[in-house]
Amino acid sequence: MELLKREKEVYAGKINCQIQFGSKVIDYRLEFSDRKTLGITVTPNMEVLVKAPLSSGMEKIQEKLRKKAPWILKQQQYFSAFHPKTTERKYVSGETHLYMGRQYRLKIIEDSKAGVKLKGQWIEVHTPNADQTKKLVIGWYVSRAKQKFPALSEPIIERFKKYNVAPSGLHIREMATRWGSCTSKGKIILNPELIKAPRGCIEYVITHELCHLIHHEHNRKFYELQSREMPDWEKWKGKLERLLA
Ligand SMILES: [Zn+2]
Repeated sequence: MELLKREKEVYAGKINCQIQFGSKVIDYRLEFSDRKTLGITVTPNMEVLVKAPLSSGMEKIQEKLRKKAPWILKQQQYFSAFHPKTTERKYVSGETHLYMGRQYRLKIIEDSKAGVKLKGQWIEVHTPNADQTKKLVIGWYVSRAKQKFPALSEPIIERFKKYNVAPSGLHIREMATRWGSCTSKGKIILNPELIKAPRGCIEYVITHELCHLIHHEHNRKFYELQSREMPDWEKWKGKLERLLA
């Protein structure tokens, strides 16, 4: 026991650990502190933080974590829906890119006037310099998002008026780790990357964030409201996870 305590002092701060649960490995960061019970948190970045009482042994911690593993995995899976996982893109002619859930192929056309437009199955990129393709395509996605998201949000915001809530603003901003967020002041922020997903997925994220105007936490009441406002939300959440994985 004495030795264990000393070890803990040596590892002051956080220790990186893992447990095996079935075929899954769960990485977690362990911190010992002056507390009575074991606390487990899954952050929106899908990190698992474990706070343990100073007196607890590793075996007991692992045992408890294994019991909680289904819950941890469920939390991580939930947050993964809000993580755009971008695959490396080269922005060359013929490469497939998504827009509103459909696949298009890039066609780079040398042109003195720069611009991007949808034409049949193609995303046509007119540019005097092929090096500019990436910048032009990303800019095009953002401009499409700025046009589509307010239009898609409008009827949903209208529906939420029966709860006497409305967002204080709708913003489109690139976020590394999330599809959407709702600030404590009721501002809704959407990731322009969402424009790559089907309409239902975009509506799901908007509905999810609007539900946060009423319930801040992801508790039972939150999910009840979300299911009431979008009965098939799980289908769209799943699509979002698969499509942009
Ligand atoms: Zn949420």
